[in-house]
Amino acid sequence: MEKNYHVCTGCGLLCDDIEVEAEKNIINKVLTACRIGVAHMKEGKGEAIFRVDNKPVDEAVAISEAATILKNAKNPLIFGLGASTNETQKIAIELAKKINATLDDTSSFCLGSLVEAIIREKIKTCTLDEVRNKADVIIFWGTDPSDSHPRHLSKYSYFPRGKEKQRGWEEERTAIAVDVRKSHTAKICGNYFFQIPPKGDAEFIDALIAGLSGKLPKTSYNYPPKKILELANILKGAKFGVIFAGRGLVNSLENLEPIFRLMKALNEKANFHLMPMVGSCNTMGFNENLFAETGYVNSVKFENGTVLHGPEYSIVESLKAKTVDAALIIGSDPFSILPGSIVKNLLEIPVVSIDSYETLTSRNSKVYINTAVSGVEAGGTATRMDRKKVSFEPFIETNHPSEETILKKIMEAL
Ligand code: SF4
Repeated sequence: MEKNYHVCTGCGLLCDDIEVEAEKNIINKVLTACRIGVAHMKEGKGEAIFRVDNKPVDEAVAISEAATILKNAKNPLIFGLGASTNETQKIAIELAKKINATLDDTSSFCLGSLVEAIIREKIKTCTLDEVRNKADVIIFWGTDPSDSHPRHLSKYSYFPRGKEKQRGWEEERTAIAVDVRKSHTAKICGNYFFQIPPKGDAEFIDALIAGLSGKLPKTSYNYPPKKILELANILKGAKFGVIFAGRGLVNSLENLEPIFRLMKALNEKANFHLMPMVGSCNTMGFNENLFAETGYVNSVKFENGTVLHGPEYSIVESLKAKTVDAALIIGSDPFSILPGSIVKNLLEIPVVSIDSYETLTSRNSKVYINTAVSGVEAGGTATRMDRKKVSFEPFIETNHPSEETILKKIMEAL
């Protein structure tokens, strides 16, 4: 019997080999997925919930109230969309244009700058399939995929036998971790774990570049030069190297200049690629879709046909400065991910939360619209962390509307 595989939308890997056993719209078993994927796919839901001022209402009332809030706002914020389909994201961009909104996603305080450099082709990148088939030196820098993307090492980056790497991790791959702590991934890397102090990344990069050109590497925190030289020698021998860069690296740097220099130095001696460890299943899609429309990956403000861009249009800065007077939060939970000193300002403005799950944000919103889970109850396309497009069909019937349907209805009600 032919097997029916599904896509997991639990993280930016978008694993497309998931088998599910379901009966009467209840998922009994999820095979192949990791613990995050199983939890994501099996999270049971009852009836769709629509609320205004914490009271249950029907869908039409919730839509009408959401549209009124957005219509009355002078500078509404639209935020989230990292777990939304490409189709939903494109409608959200149209909505932002229509209501002159500020539009942002989590990448403005995560990996947005690096993703933009990749989209602008300022850094050499590759696909996950190429990593599986060819990579011989793999660096996990400021990231712990064993926790955040649990199948990363087994499906692509370290353990699998690839077309050109038949002898696998035991003989043909070297995994290296650079991090401030001994993460689960760092433990797998064994002796190739390089522990640096917080904010020590830029100096470590300088020392590594010195080591690559045969100079004596030095850091102010006295990292053993011999270890850095040893690392430089491994990197110089890479036939297909890749750096998986996480928030730990990007957030410790003032800008990307040290990464550009490191990639240049590496590619003078070897063949190196870099891939941002994008967390949510379609943050990459959001960044690409917004870039295609505006030339920027996040932090924009639409104003009567023009596009403004800058840190002042990020969720953090616009909440700090209190420049936004209403918020539409789609599939995200800023109350859980942003510092209380910033997010408390959301309590002073009307918030519409569109989400598949109850969150702190949905509980603190004037309007809550409970939607279908993309990839489980709603179909569409998403963009994997290596920019590959993945499409999926729903495999559970639901009475929850999709985000796409809700955004279209809000647009019509404006
Ligand atoms: S690694 Fe990510 S996409 Fe793959 S099964 Fe786990 S959560 Fe889902």
